[in-house]
Amino acid sequence: MSTERVSAWEAARERLESAARLVGLDPGLALLVIEPERVLEVSVPFRRDDGRIELLKGWRVHHNTSRGPGKGGIRFHPAVNADEVKALASEMSVKCAVVDIPFGGAKGGVAVDPRPLSAGELERVTRRYAFGVGPLLDPDRDVPAPDVNTDARVMAWLMDTISMIRGRATPGVVTGKPLAIGGSHGHVGATSRGVTICVQATFAELGMPLAGARAVIQGYGKVGAPLVYLLSSLGMRVVAVSDVDGAVHNPAGLDPAALSQHTEQTGSVAGFALAEAIDPQELFSIECELAVPAALGGVIDAATAASLGAKVVVEAANGPTLPEADPVLASRGIVVVPDVLANAGGVTASYFEWAQDRGGYAWEADVVAERLRRTMAQAFDATWRQSQALKVPLREAAMALGVERIAEATQLRGLFP
Ligand code: NAD
Repeated sequence: MSTERVSAWEAARERLESAARLVGLDPGLALLVIEPERVLEVSVPFRRDDGRIELLKGWRVHHNTSRGPGKGGIRFHPAVNADEVKALASEMSVKCAVVDIPFGGAKGGVAVDPRPLSAGELERVTRRYAFGVGPLLDPDRDVPAPDVNTDARVMAWLMDTISMIRGRATPGVVTGKPLAIGGSHGHVGATSRGVTICVQATFAELGMPLAGARAVIQGYGKVGAPLVYLLSSLGMRVVAVSDVDGAVHNPAGLDPAALSQHTEQTGSVAGFALAEAIDPQELFSIECELAVPAALGGVIDAATAASLGAKVVVEAANGPTLPEADPVLASRGIVVVPDVLANAGGVTASYFEWAQDRGGYAWEADVVAERLRRTMAQAFDATWRQSQALKVPLREAAMALGVERIAEATQLRGLFP
């Protein structure tokens, strides 16, 4: 691993700058596309169950809203800071442009470890944060969603807080809500389905058969667990899976139902009887056709890239590959489908939820599934064509496509005043 690390925002800005250069953007227009529009920092005071008052910091960032209202999750994690939120917001601008949905990029977060908080404390933190960043939120302005350590329950509190402040039900102000209050069919699992569509399209382009192809997945959470089923249903063999507690390997392929039952009982893939325990560090060096990082950012460094056993990497996680690893993967002929494309199924389903809330009309599950498939397939094709046209890897192609589309909207709208 390199010892010199730039901050998350510096790294994100460098990627945007190099995409802007690649598509020959005017330097003035590039500034509008690269720099965030606004960064709001709020204090989030709340009362603990024992009566003590504590004060947290929270942020909401609008990166670029030329293409539509800001879209991006809210993260509750001790490491959240303005710099990280800016980087994540810029990635959302690019992601929404790559799948061509009418949203800009936004992101938010509170620097807090939610695990020791009671449900009541978590609700008070959520409501006070929603009040603090509330002036930025609106179905026509900025629409948050769940992210690390936030879920449908947190989204319900957020939607209720904004609705109470405004004196009217405002379901379209947030996505990833429970079905009973304006959520959408097919939101759960949408990211995994989008990843699966990218796997199918990549293998088709490369002329690699799916049947019998071996896959390894890092992470068995909201994204990784459904993927074991979805990839197996394509005839692939998911030969190894890891989570925070361990990793398991079976060259014949893991049984999705048995693995799911085991994790429901024990809380981890570790100890699964129908597979051999392996060191989680070995996961990415297993020889296979597909590797899917679906856990943390920054897990594929130059050394991991040099020993990677897969021919294709599809990034379900956000930012799993460090910039230093990209040239190593490229020199080894490993095809990487980048996060801004591969995991965009989630934000696409969020767009469908928002459209249903604004229209006041719920779509059937099969309508959501078909529209998701079409949107992801079109985004994949556009990125693949861009990669061929510019003769660059898919990550640079996706960045270029996203930056080009954001720049087009920014230019068409012109510079205010
Ligand atoms: P999750 O919290 O549900 O699951 C994360 C999984 O990663 C868990 O199984 C956990 O045990 C595992 N993990 C944690 N540390 C690990 C380690 N050191 N080694 C191996 N496994 C480890 O999270 P999620 O929603 O599944 O998100 C996973 C990734 O996908 C994140 O990078 C997230 O930003 C990204 N993502 C998620 C969505 C979504 O819809 N949930 C959408 C876009 C991107």
